[in-house]
Amino acid sequence: TTTRAYNFNAGPSALPLEVLEKAQAELVNFQGTGMSVMELSHRSATFEEVHNTAIANLRKLFAVPDNYEVLFLQGGASLQFTMIPMNFLKEGQTANYVLTGSWSEKAFKEAKLFGEAVAPISTKDNKYKNIPTDVEVAATDAYVHITSNNTIYGTQWKQFPNTGNTPLIADMSSDIMSKPVDIEKFGLIYAGAQKNLGPSGVTVVIVRKDLLENANGNLPTILNYKTFADNNSLYNTPPTFGIYMLGEVLKWIEAQGGLAQVEKNNEAKAALIYDTIDNSNGFYYGHAEKDSRSLMNITFRVADEELEKKFLQEAKEAGFVGLNGHRSVGGCRASTYNAVPVEACQALADFMKQFQANNQ
Ligand code: PMP
Repeated sequence: TTTRAYNFNAGPSALPLEVLEKAQAELVNFQGTGMSVMELSHRSATFEEVHNTAIANLRKLFAVPDNYEVLFLQGGASLQFTMIPMNFLKEGQTANYVLTGSWSEKAFKEAKLFGEAVAPISTKDNKYKNIPTDVEVAATDAYVHITSNNTIYGTQWKQFPNTGNTPLIADMSSDIMSKPVDIEKFGLIYAGAQKNLGPSGVTVVIVRKDLLENANGNLPTILNYKTFADNNSLYNTPPTFGIYMLGEVLKWIEAQGGLAQVEKNNEAKAALIYDTIDNSNGFYYGHAEKDSRSLMNITFRVADEELEKKFLQEAKEAGFVGLNGHRSVGGCRASTYNAVPVEACQALADFMKQFQANNQ
């Protein structure tokens, strides 16, 4: 096979090689249909099987209880920033946003367009280096919104807050299905697929059914969650190829041993890089506080600014892709999503050690 890059892109990001090869093998003649999965009708039995299997496998692997819907939407996680307040924020209520980075800020901004949104807890004053230990819930809160993993700052909730009877809503775009999660703690979970689950174009929403019953009515059809729930996410033409790929990634997750094993793999991968940072005597330093560190996005700096430029340049020349930090914060970031192999993380750790030895 061809040479694969050491892909540390933040999203879209690495997909499992096995999945890409399978998609390639069945591209022009999917299951004897004489056409690719992209050319099938979304109403055909062949596609419906792909669609329903993906939903069923997601339910099984992520242990989604029966009183939750699993929906496939479009518009990315960004459209969820809009749909959540549209569907769930009512007159006289507040929407409570915990601000832990740029993506929570963006979600908060959209909610303010629809009603009263508040942000009593923010870690901005600490340069978004940490995750708060708790949240403040008010009686008027329609929901509490968190970003489970902060893609840009490299922080991650390790324990989810208890919001009592107030639904907890989580943007899990950058850590969905990287580990087992107790779904019952949440009213709604959403994620763009393009980091851990597949290509861009599909957004996964997991929502408790009773919330849909009590949601706002009188919404544009396509922005109403109920439309998708009532039609098995087949109200209109779904992103069929993305759903097929997501389904194949789920089969790959199962073959890895499920989410408990995937979590172990992710811990081992991240440890290779964090240990290199921590054992560098300050040559490298991490952005996030240790107890808030993400297993998905490892953000770090080279202490010497000139050397940092050299590091990024030489890393690029050595075949490492995607190590530049987000354009809003600079520095370095290695995204180590599910499909990034341990070999790539080992190669990066080795490269970092060698770079330090050469430049100290
Ligand atoms: N939330 C988080 C945590 C993200 O990382 C991203 C994308 N990087 C988004 C939301 C926006 O997602 P999309 O581009 O799918 O709208």
